[in-house]
Amino acid sequence: MIVSQSAIVPPMSARAFSVGAGQIVRVVDIDGRQPGDFVAFKADDFEVRMSQARSRVENQRVTVTQGHSLWTNTFPPEIIFTIVGDTHGAHDLLYTPCCRYALETRFGVSRDGCLEQLAKALEPWGVKPHEVPDPLNLFFDVAVDGAGGMEIRRPASVPGSSIELKAEMNCVVAISTCSVSSADRENSAYQVEILELQCASSAVTSQ
Ligand SMILES: [Zn+2]
Repeated sequence: MIVSQSAIVPPMSARAFSVGAGQIVRVVDIDGRQPGDFVAFKADDFEVRMSQARSRVENQRVTVTQGHSLWTNTFPPEIIFTIVGDTHGAHDLLYTPCCRYALETRFGVSRDGCLEQLAKALEPWGVKPHEVPDPLNLFFDVAVDGAGGMEIRRPASVPGSSIELKAEMNCVVAISTCSVSSADRENSAYQVEILELQCASSAVTSQ
């Protein structure tokens, strides 16, 4: 595998990346315990995007890990990403991105959330905040009790935890580092790498 793009997503921000079919998006939670959001659009038709709800139903799960897929909002649905590596073990498919409204009403802080950060990163493609789909919540743990209640659990990913998602079509993805803070951890950054298999033709020409 070779690294074709590498970038840091700083704390409380988001970055977008063009990803070709077959390439792998590797997200590293550098310091650990840092939740974030992952959304994906089909490169040549932004009406086609990753559907959190469809991915939940097709997997019959509220969390996903290595071996599971993410599906589009189309009918019939198509696989847009397959998770091919995961050192953490579970990523949430229930929660919306945090947003300025949620941060103000639930946490009493006035700043942009993942929704606004993702929209800013996707602005070059004309995506508006209300068009940002519900995400795959990376390194984020939501428990569901027997009565249907949801509870956010303390993030538990260890430093250097990573997830690898293989694109099944040409895509644009956006990845945020969540803006929600807690007293017992610093908001931290992700490293994102876009990996691809070294193809046979380049091996030949390099001889
Ligand atoms: Zn967030």
